[in-house]
Amino acid sequence: MTQFLNFHTHNFSPNSDGESIYNLLIQDVGRFNELENHWLSVGIHPWYADAENWQTQLKTVGQMAAHENVLAIGECGVDRLIELPLEQQFPIFEAQIKLAEQLRKPVIIHCVRAFNELLQWKKRVAPTIPLIIHGFNNKPEIAQQLIAHGFYFSLGTALLETDSNAVKALKIIPFSKLFLENDDRDTPIEKVYEAAAMHLEITISVLKDQIWTNFVTVFKR
Ligand SMILES: [Zn+2]
Repeated sequence: MTQFLNFHTHNFSPNSDGESIYNLLIQDVGRFNELENHWLSVGIHPWYADAENWQTQLKTVGQMAAHENVLAIGECGVDRLIELPLEQQFPIFEAQIKLAEQLRKPVIIHCVRAFNELLQWKKRVAPTIPLIIHGFNNKPEIAQQLIAHGFYFSLGTALLETDSNAVKALKIIPFSKLFLENDDRDTPIEKVYEAAAMHLEITISVLKDQIWTNFVTVFKR
């Protein structure tokens, strides 16, 4: 029987029922040795990017990123709601994309109110690695554009709210581009799968199989 895949989580729980990709934030890199037996993503989250010393942070990420259990780079991305201007966030994001391209690893993207900029960037840079927007909960029109540009999606606990944008997105995202996560919430990943299966009118078992297939495809495992 296929396991639950929790695509992106900050709650490290080694006994969880299934597999998780645990997100290691730049300020937690001291835990790398303790966690390296688990699947990880490592990156500079825009909230924690050091505008003066991000090259040093990048070097740290680079040192861990080649490890076989670091499955993805991220979360990284762009966020309009923080103090650091988008123009200064993009170079930090791009440097991590470059690293991911070198290592041929997917990137988990955090994007807040900067989807137009992200789409423009994608058109200009045309990266070849899989890009996954995590925690997507935005308007269907934005989802459509991201779908058209080949992005993957990881949807989270917003699926538990009826009529959320995440629920609307779920119904239009190609099945092969979908992942599920609980991010920084305590909600068990099973609940997210239950909600998604209900909205899609499929069984949890079919959903688990599809997401596992997506995982194997994107991560070439
Ligand atoms: Zn997160």
